[in-house]
Amino acid sequence: MKTVVVHEHGDADRLVLEDRPDPEPGPGEVVVSVRACALNHLDLWMRRGIPGVKLPRIPGADISGVVAQIGPGVEGLRTGDRVYLSPGVGCGKCPLCLSGRDNMCAAYDFFGVQRDGGYAESVLAPAHRAFPIPGDLSFDEAAAFPLVFLTAWHMLITRAGIRPGEDVLIMAAGSGVGTSAIQVARLAGARVIAAAGSDEKLSKARELGADEGVNYETQDLVAEIRRLTDRKGVDVVIEHTGAQRWEAIIRCMATGGRLVTCGATSGAKADLDLRHLFARQLNLLGSFMGRRTELPQVARLVGERILRPIIDRALPLSEAREAHRLIERREQFGKVLLHP
Ligand SMILES: [Zn+2]
Repeated sequence: MKTVVVHEHGDADRLVLEDRPDPEPGPGEVVVSVRACALNHLDLWMRRGIPGVKLPRIPGADISGVVAQIGPGVEGLRTGDRVYLSPGVGCGKCPLCLSGRDNMCAAYDFFGVQRDGGYAESVLAPAHRAFPIPGDLSFDEAAAFPLVFLTAWHMLITRAGIRPGEDVLIMAAGSGVGTSAIQVARLAGARVIAAAGSDEKLSKARELGADEGVNYETQDLVAEIRRLTDRKGVDVVIEHTGAQRWEAIIRCMATGGRLVTCGATSGAKADLDLRHLFARQLNLLGSFMGRRTELPQVARLVGERILRPIIDRALPLSEAREAHRLIERREQFGKVLLHP
């Protein structure tokens, strides 16, 4: 089968197109013929190097396709089933997994990181990670929603405990997580302030339901947030842009506000004035993926088209390098996909 493999960590040139033997399903496993694989920053981090990841590795966590082969002992799936794969799962056995906090599992397992992923014509998957594509979603839509909507849902609903009428600032509103978070926050009845680096992205964010927009390349983010919230600041920040604007973001928060972060695209070392933290009683919350029980919730809402995966474009597998560069240049609005 045709695949894209990372043999050495580095820039996008490290994505190498090559032929690999077709996978064979073992007990409890299926082989899925990949129809679409959505890219995530996770793929870029893996390519650049995540400690403990073994190479060579086929990237790609967000996968949809058709069940092509079924291993011994698999129940509830048939060849020809249209499925999407759960991008990451816990071990299912440790105390954190058993208490429903499987996204805190030390043995968390991603397609494309701990096991081979979807930059390929076929992927080997534990059968329990394959779910029927909800509603009448296309393969592209089914690959585009799991990781970002699961992440946005967990950040807003579970971590921030968002309430109707609250002001929510969504950073990098044109990203996969951003376009998902706009919709989840709207669904929860919040007032959404989208922030992005271009007016074009902000107008698309408004089409998705954002009430206000701030261009942080051309406008003063803190001044605009103060103006839009009558000097109060925002109750919740959805953040994954990292160090570059951290100080400004902290100043955008209302007293008692909650900041939830799931990434650090512009850098991981940020300064924090501790006086802001205690005097204004801020809550800084980390978030990682979402719980196993949250995935069917978002899948149902996407299947009913209450939440909508936003797709920028799909490229052939042979253009994986260009797809990574697109994301690095932040040129996309929504998800970039690969088609084998
Ligand atoms: Zn576990």
